[in-house]
Amino acid sequence: MNAPQCVTTWDVEAVRADFPILAQTVHGKPLAYLDNAATTQKPNAVIDAIAHFYRHDNANIHRGVHALAERATIAYEAAREAARRFLNARSANEIVFVRGTTEAINLVAASFGARFQPGDEVIVTAMEHHANIVPWQLVQARTGIVLKVIPMDESGALQTEQLAALITPRTRLVAVTHVSNALGTINPVAELIAIAHQHGVPVLVDGAQAVPHMPVDVQALDADFYCFSGHKLFGPTGIGVLYCKAELLESMPPYQGGGDMIRTVSFEKSTFAPPPQRFEAGTPHIAGAIGLKAAIEYLERLDRLAALRYEQELLAYATERLQTVPGLKIVGTAPEKAAVVSFTIDGIHPHDLGTIVDRYGVAIRVGHHCAMPVMTFFGVPATARASFAFYNTFAEIDQLTDALHRARDLLV
Ligand code: PMP
Repeated sequence: MNAPQCVTTWDVEAVRADFPILAQTVHGKPLAYLDNAATTQKPNAVIDAIAHFYRHDNANIHRGVHALAERATIAYEAAREAARRFLNARSANEIVFVRGTTEAINLVAASFGARFQPGDEVIVTAMEHHANIVPWQLVQARTGIVLKVIPMDESGALQTEQLAALITPRTRLVAVTHVSNALGTINPVAELIAIAHQHGVPVLVDGAQAVPHMPVDVQALDADFYCFSGHKLFGPTGIGVLYCKAELLESMPPYQGGGDMIRTVSFEKSTFAPPPQRFEAGTPHIAGAIGLKAAIEYLERLDRLAALRYEQELLAYATERLQTVPGLKIVGTAPEKAAVVSFTIDGIHPHDLGTIVDRYGVAIRVGHHCAMPVMTFFGVPATARASFAFYNTFAEIDQLTDALHRARDLLV
């Protein structure tokens, strides 16, 4: 089968030219980077912004009176404003910089979770990443909360209608992934939030796998917490965003103590700065925030709806092509999916698959994808996963398919 002509107006070659890492060979083959759910590649705009900061403006932020400190502070706070704009938050004070999604959820669990009482309940979904399970289990071990799970069906679609029945007067939070990293399922978060709010329960959305694929508006969703990682959004590692509604954030105690988060300190008592500083103890990842701003501005220059349509074409093509491989089963076939395809091939361990396709220049991820309960549900120890970004091509999907056929010839 020949790769279809892209029907969406999307100049993939122009976009690829912005990402220098993509133009390389691996084991003598052109690199096909299909591991975007693990981390995305960085455009020149991001690489240059970070280098520019270290070359010209590097200084610690806030409190500095010299020129470099002022420039660094302005750049860091401009990054907060960029994150506000990106999520359409009401105020930049609702944006807390964290290391990534994992830290964001741990912050909420430690700080918002400090008010939980024994017997209180947190509801998650059956397809959560460990980052949205384990922090609640840590609260559970400390406080004796109850963790409840919204089930999914055999296709990996969430059984949204089950949420209302799970909510009780003891439910304190619903914490759900927007897009599953292991299955690609897009969850109806607006609907889940509406149901939770009917019962007065706030909602945290793990947006790690959503923001790279689709525009997100936290006001339209009415999310109480929304978080993501910079490195999955074409930005640097070590920086991420926790959005939280102002009134809620105001009501939360500090997560970590130290410099930059206080108003006054004495040996008897300390008082704390208002949000977001209250939650940013110590020197933050200043260059990371600046790199994230560059990533956001890069995305703002693209037609994101065209990017989404293009990725959906890649998903449809990959779904069709991969099924030409004998014994290949796709894990996760929900009607609404982001451009992620998890699969197994009868008789081949995913780790062997990953190693062989690497010899053909194809980078995919194999394993449990930090979603062991998902693997247990589908009765597999691991899957192979190809995950796409708007810089991937139909030819790369052909390259993956050919490599999988060869792996099968070799191993089965
Ligand atoms: N949630 C989801 C859905 C993810 O895919 C990931 C990363 N695989 C995380 C949370 C954790 O993100 P990070 O490792 O950047 O903190």
